Amino acid sequence: MTTKLNLLDYDRHGLRDLFAELGEKPYRAEQVMKWIYHRHVTEFAQMTDVGKALREKLEAVAEIVPPKILFEKQAADATHKWLLGMDGGNAVETVFIPESNRGTLCVSSQIGCGLNCRFCSTGTQGFNRNLATAEIVGQVFVAARHLGNVPHRQRKLTNVVMMGMGEPLLNFDNVVRAMSVMRDDLGFGLANKRVTLSTAGLVPMIDRLGEVADVSLAVSLHAPNDELRTQLVPLNKKYPIDELIAACQRYAARRPRTSITFEYTMLRGVNDRPEHARQLIKLMRRLPSKVNLIPFNTFAGTVFERSDEATIRAFQKILLDAGVLTTVRRTRGDDIDAACGQLKGQVLDRTRRQAEFRRRLEEGARHVA
Ligand code: SAH
Repeated sequence: MTTKLNLLDYDRHGLRDLFAELGEKPYRAEQVMKWIYHRHVTEFAQMTDVGKALREKLEAVAEIVPPKILFEKQAADATHKWLLGMDGGNAVETVFIPESNRGTLCVSSQIGCGLNCRFCSTGTQGFNRNLATAEIVGQVFVAARHLGNVPHRQRKLTNVVMMGMGEPLLNFDNVVRAMSVMRDDLGFGLANKRVTLSTAGLVPMIDRLGEVADVSLAVSLHAPNDELRTQLVPLNKKYPIDELIAACQRYAARRPRTSITFEYTMLRGVNDRPEHARQLIKLMRRLPSKVNLIPFNTFAGTVFERSDEATIRAFQKILLDAGVLTTVRRTRGDDIDAACGQLKGQVLDRTRRQAEFRRRLEEGARHVA
């Protein structure tokens, strides 16, 4: 059996090359893209302005297959979550967050995650594999089709954040290609700065990203000093804060008038004291930046707790008083476990992390009993 090419795997450039290989004019590729991304058509037979001969040729070698929806659910606040089947029993979650002036889709880049950040539920699930470009683009396709989104006309999906499961910079090529489809006028037509890649801080890949893609960058900082950050984000051992900030400075230097967002999950008694805010101010003074404080979202078996509202506001005030632009992320969709750090999906773990986590959970339960 020969497997067909999934056209969701290609950006405009790749699709033009593919059509050239098939002996077709490259502009035909652009016609097909419009059918896919503006009209959400997956059957070549329905592409009425594409000649019959080409449709048959495409039929023979290619297909347009978004991931299968295993489950979907809408929260009380209209946040919508999809569980999308990948292969071999794996699944990832994608979340749409509507607001009055924009609609943001939170997209996953890997099945599970290898980084093991201590306060993230995806981290407890271990890692299986990178998602293919078609599986990343497919998440946006499923949401755009559901919303009836049409770029520049029916704009319901205005922003994408690569903040779902996984570390996008460890799936570099597929993520960059997928982001190119998101920003292409013949694709999902999003503005460059409305596509945001969030990373736990892979320094060399931040530099590479700066060379190839013009997107907004968010960095999961979570602690203002190396000692604490290494405990929360083990990757910090390899790329400590100084190097991370330097890479962010280089990224920002390429883009006048844009700033880097630093995400900071507020963990009660861990990273939420005034001295942490003061250390954070010093870091933020080194580059054009803003801070996004994320109230911790709980999950089964975690030892962390959310900082209380007053502590978060006081922390924010210290930063604001020092002139550091600081917002507090509103928790959305937590009644359907769709909030930050709660995305789980189904991960057939290739590491031993799930087993370890279960063991720790049981130990904890015995301890309490
Ligand atoms: N690996 C990338 C992409 C994931 S983004 C990264 O680390 O940036 C997911 C964001 O939610 C990150 O900032 C992450 O640190 C944060 N997060 C993870 N677990 C959380 C939790 N339980 N509560 C609130 N935020 C969490």
